[in-house]
Amino acid sequence: MGRYSIFSLLRHAATGNRGWQRAWRAASPKPSYDVIIIGGGGHGLATAFYLAENHGVRNVAVLEKGYIGGGNVGRNTTVIRSNYLLDGNTQFYEYSMKLWEGLSAALNFNVMFSQRGQLVTAHSADQLDAFAHRANIMRSNGIDADILDRQQVRKLVPYLDFSETARFPIHGAIFQGRAGTARHDAVAWGYARAASCHGVDIIEGCEVTGFLRDDERIVGVETTRGHIGAGRVGLAVAGHTSVLGQMAGLELPIESHLLQAFVTEPVKPLVNHVIAYGADHFYLSQSDKGGLVFGGNLDGYNSYSQRGNTGVLREVCEAAIALMPNISRLRLLRHWGGIMDMTPDASPIISPTPVEGLYLNGGWCYGGFKATPASGWCFAHMLATGKTHPLIEGYGLDRFRTGYLLDEAGAGPFAWLQ
Ligand SMILES: Cc1cc2nc3c(=O)[nH]c(=O)nc-3n(C[C@H](O)[C@H](O)[C@H](O)COP(=O)(O)OP(=O)(O)OC[C@H]3O[C@@H](n4cnc5c(N)ncnc54)[C@H](O)[C@@H]3O)c2cc1C
Repeated sequence: MGRYSIFSLLRHAATGNRGWQRAWRAASPKPSYDVIIIGGGGHGLATAFYLAENHGVRNVAVLEKGYIGGGNVGRNTTVIRSNYLLDGNTQFYEYSMKLWEGLSAALNFNVMFSQRGQLVTAHSADQLDAFAHRANIMRSNGIDADILDRQQVRKLVPYLDFSETARFPIHGAIFQGRAGTARHDAVAWGYARAASCHGVDIIEGCEVTGFLRDDERIVGVETTRGHIGAGRVGLAVAGHTSVLGQMAGLELPIESHLLQAFVTEPVKPLVNHVIAYGADHFYLSQSDKGGLVFGGNLDGYNSYSQRGNTGVLREVCEAAIALMPNISRLRLLRHWGGIMDMTPDASPIISPTPVEGLYLNGGWCYGGFKATPASGWCFAHMLATGKTHPLIEGYGLDRFRTGYLLDEAGAGPFAWLQ
């Protein structure tokens, strides 16, 4: 596979663009690998890449039941930020942000990372106080954060509802200028290509249906393409973590929920930032094609179906119009759903499991896209060394037994609005 560069672009342009090669090899399963990663989403592919790049472990396979990028990595609203509050989350997500900042260069693939800034609106003096607390914590960890008053927000995003009749008047906002978005498919393709260049086998259309054991230890997997041996197995299957966990005999503290995303017809450039509505669970940005991309709450029941229901559609559109009345006549182009695994404290799990040889990466809830680089980095460290990287000490499975929870996002939006 050739390197992408301005020269390769010019060379291919001059020869009619007929010489481009596949972005990654279409591999077939070998009898065994040092490491098997189940799940060819962002986290699984990033793990494979960093295993090869950082630890020289190249006898690796990523097994994907569908196609690369068909899961949540290609279904999310692409918001990337590191405005967390709790020790454990703050450092991890900021590390991820730093990896995002160099990712296109590291992968030799343009992931279209756009640091357009994110602001979260505050709708009461108390909420603005809470944001000031968060901003102080962020700054003391070396992360950029600004508190804006009502006039500053109005100057930045005049198209929000600042009228006397606004449903929840805007008091101010917290702003992170380095936050932004990336092209989600490109993240999957970029990691797949870079991992494949290092010799990793990316095997699409290969569903894991069970585990091979030697006494208590996992020594491989059963798949729709036969048995494959493995020294270690890493699970990175997003919304299907509990399904795979059950196959290995694990009862995991995880529920699966559906989250929808929405996109409008394209319009001229209007929204320059990522905007989150602090009065309800709603967030929005504008894609390079011009569509407004947005999302809100989970569907209110557990499900493995990747479709959305129309009740949430209505709720999310109501929040959109309460925040930005000027988009009320835009047509909705499409909406889709992705399944996410939710833990009781809404923080992820990157951890060894009680089953020897089996390691777990899951529980990313609403927010795993932004975590993709750091998650892969730390999971690769765990699979290569058998040790927990200091950045993920808070993400152990054991915390649900000991009670040392990282309960940050678990509070959810405002119960009084529901
Ligand atoms: C609508 C929506 C909006 C979101 N918005 C954001 C956002 O703005 N910012 C953010 O940070 N996060 C967001 N998220 C969350 C984020 O997308 C996920 O947390 C993250 O992408 C999950 O990790 P992943 O990419 O590896 O998962 P996936 O891409 O889902 O990868 C898991 C893969 O495992 C495969 N798999 C499952 N079972 C098996 C099996 N038995 N054998 C083989 N393969 C298997 C699946 O096919 C899938 O491809 C959003 C999620 C959704 C659904």
